[in-house]
Amino acid sequence: MKTSSFRVVSLPSEIADAARRAVKTGAVDHALITVDSPESSPCRHCLHWAQPGERVILFPYSSIPSGHPYSETGPIFVHADNCPRYNATNEYPADFRNGRVFRAYDSNYNIIDAQVVDGAEPEVVIESLFENPETALMDVRSMTRGCFTFRVQRA
Ligand SMILES: [Zn+2]
Repeated sequence: MKTSSFRVVSLPSEIADAARRAVKTGAVDHALITVDSPESSPCRHCLHWAQPGERVILFPYSSIPSGHPYSETGPIFVHADNCPRYNATNEYPADFRNGRVFRAYDSNYNIIDAQVVDGAEPEVVIESLFENPETALMDVRSMTRGCFTFRVQRA
């Protein structure tokens, strides 16, 4: 099977760091939470589930910037303490192989396709969505709550 080269784009470190600063100044839209159950709070920076007892920050993030019909802002978590940014080519994050929906966007941020990954191989779904030359990127989201998890781009 031919596999398209893809790059996993996690939340930029500048945004994670800004959230860590904002929560310290008491920003009302940044909540500091201690995780109490496993697989409840995915950190968008290191792309791992935060473990029970770890602290995370919950804040709104514009996954699709304003000025587009599909502009979207929604809640995400990052670890409250520093964590390494996930940065990999052709390596799908192991913690999020199930329960995700993939939304394919064109270069103007219009949604042009979507597929659910739950039990399927995410690499196969990526391959299939990138077969359309119009697909510029895809956003991977929670299937149940809809929250943005990470982005996939062509490598
Ligand atoms: Zn993290």
